[in-house]
This record gives sequence, C-alpha cells and structure tokens, in this order.
Amino acid sequence: MKSTLWHILGAGSLGGLWAARLARAGLPVRLILRHEERLKAYNAKGGLTLSEQGQRQTFPIPAQTLDDPQPIVRLLVACKAYDAERAVARIAPRLAPGAEVLLLQNGLGSQEAVAALVSQARCIFVSSTEGAFRDEDFSVVFAGQGANWLGDAQQRPAPVWLDELAAAGIAHQWTPNILDRLWRKLALNCAINPLTVLHDCRNGELQAHAGDVGALCDELVAVLKCCGHAQAAAGLHEEVNRVIAATAANYSSMYQDVSEGRRTEISYLLGYLCIAAERHGCQAPLLNRLRERLIKHLKVKGLPSD
Ligand code: NAP
Repeated sequence: MKSTLWHILGAGSLGGLWAARLARAGLPVRLILRHEERLKAYNAKGGLTLSEQGQRQTFPIPAQTLDDPQPIVRLLVACKAYDAERAVARIAPRLAPGAEVLLLQNGLGSQEAVAALVSQARCIFVSSTEGAFRDEDFSVVFAGQGANWLGDAQQRPAPVWLDELAAAGIAHQWTPNILDRLWRKLALNCAINPLTVLHDCRNGELQAHAGDVGALCDELVAVLKCCGHAQAAAGLHEEVNRVIAATAANYSSMYQDVSEGRRTEISYLLGYLCIAAERHGCQAPLLNRLRERLIKHLKVKGLPSD
C-alpha cells in the first residue's frame, strides 16, 4: 500500500529531525517553507542535512511554500508555539477532509488554538523529549535521544501509521493521557527554565537554590491539582531534582533562547500556567512573581515578553 505523504511545516530543528528520518526510511516527505525566498535558499543547499553520531547525510527532500496548492492529508507542525496558529491558518484550506495534524509544540495553549482552527482535521498532540539544534540553515544536529509521546485529547484510537515512525527509528509511544504528559512537561519547565534565566546559570547550579526550587514545586503541585491534573503532579519535586542532577552541565532551552537573543515560548509555558491558575481560581503567588521577573528580564534584554 502506498504511504501517505508527510507534509512538514517548519524545517527547523525538530521538523528537520523528523523529515530526515522519515525520508531516510523511504517514506514520502514534503517540507513546507515560509515563502519563495526560503524555498530558493533551501533548493540552493540541495536538501536537508542531518548530523547524527558524527555522521552527516543530506536528503534531497522536495519542498514547497505555504501557498502551494497540493492538498495535505498528514501534517506535522514543527514551528515554535508562537508561530503555529498563524502558520496553520495559512494552510488550513489545503487540509483534505479527515486530514491528520500532529502538533510538536512545547508548552500548552498553541495546540488548542490550532485545533480550533482546523476542526475538519484530527489533531494529535506530541510531547517530545528529543533534542536537536540547527548548526546551519537547513542542517540539523540530533543532539539528544529521547521519546515522543503521542496522543489524542479526544481519546480516539491510535492511528495505524505509528509503524511508520518505528520504521523511521523515531522513538514514540501512544498515550491515552497526552494532556497529563504535556502538563507534566510544562511543570518541569516552569520549575527549572525561568530560574536558569534569572540566575544566569546551568541547570545544575539550581542545586544552590534548592529552597526556591522546592517552594516552586510545592506551588506547582497545588496548581496542577487545582487545574484538574493531579496525575501530572505526582512526584514532581523528585523529578525536578532528578532532571537538575541529570542535566547539570546543560543550559535550559529558555536560557539558550535568551542568550542567543531569540524569542522565548514564555506565553505557552509559565505564562500559560499562570493564566490557567487564575482561570481556575488557584493561588499561585510564586509563579506569578517569577513570571513578572522573567518578563522584566526579557524586556531589559530587548526580547519579546509574550
Ligand atoms: P526552530 O528550530 O526555530 O524551527 C522552527 C521552524 O519553523 C523554522 O524553520 C521556521 O522557519 C519555521 N517556521 C516558522 N513560521 C513558519 C511559517 N509561517 N511557515 C513555515 N515555516 C515556519 O524550532 P524547534 O527547536 O524545532 O522547535 C519547534 C517546537 O518544538 C517548539 O515548540 C519547541 O519548544 C519544541 N521542541 C524543540 C526541541 C528541540 O530540541 N529543538 C525539543 C523538544 C520540543 P525559518 O527557518 O524560516 O525561520
């Protein structure tokens, strides 16, 4: 049986990582780029390069722009959370009836916004702990093994194409509790990333601020429970400590965004959490204070604070 074409919106770090592995497994892939200028730059490079365990390989994956008329049956949205809604709105008319849309965005908020835009499609939320970065334009380094948890917030059954991910060597697991997974990752992020930015430090250096981390974890647990995600709260403090120890030498993703002058995904991480807490009438003084300090810090750095 012929495989369905994978359209990949956003040929950045994670989009490139997925596209290259699917193409390497012989599966049909199309990249969707912003506009003609990016398409020309991509074609001039002759394809997408993946570096994995010291091996570099270029895959001549065909690409198109958002305006291409080709219908889309399976779409992987791999742009940042703050770009996802606008980008998907541009290609929504191209989605075939019954199309499937996989959302790779970190945090929460963008998934619901996209799902509301494309009610004719089935949305699958993905929580990824894989790590990748761009060493050049259209060139991706697979920097950290991890897992991809996939799930359907409306509890429909697992799609049949998960075996394509297996064939492509993309570590994955279907979960009936994808929202709990996303909330859990959001909470871990809120406990660690903003503090690394404000203390200008690697993850491990938060061990010197164990009191602050502990207090934040207590509040996060209370907020998760209050927002109806008690499962995501279990053992949070212990996991935060484990992550800090296991990634002691690393800089958090938010730290890296700030230090490289890139926009952060704050509105979909700490921002989302504070607003959700308020909506549910939960007390979150430490998280709100942390958010205010982070926003102030971003403004001082001349970075967007939304
Ligand atoms: P990234 O490297 O910045 O890539 C984003 C890509 O989206 C860029 O190639 C960008 O195009 C493209 N894009 C943005 N707007 C677009 C539009 N309107 N049309 C077409 N393309 C558009 O970001 P990333 O690191 O892959 O992150 C993607 C998501 O995955 C984020 O939510 C992130 O938090 C999450 N995530 C990332 C990692 C990781 O290790 N990288 C791990 C877990 C989760 P240009 O190239 O033209 O700028």
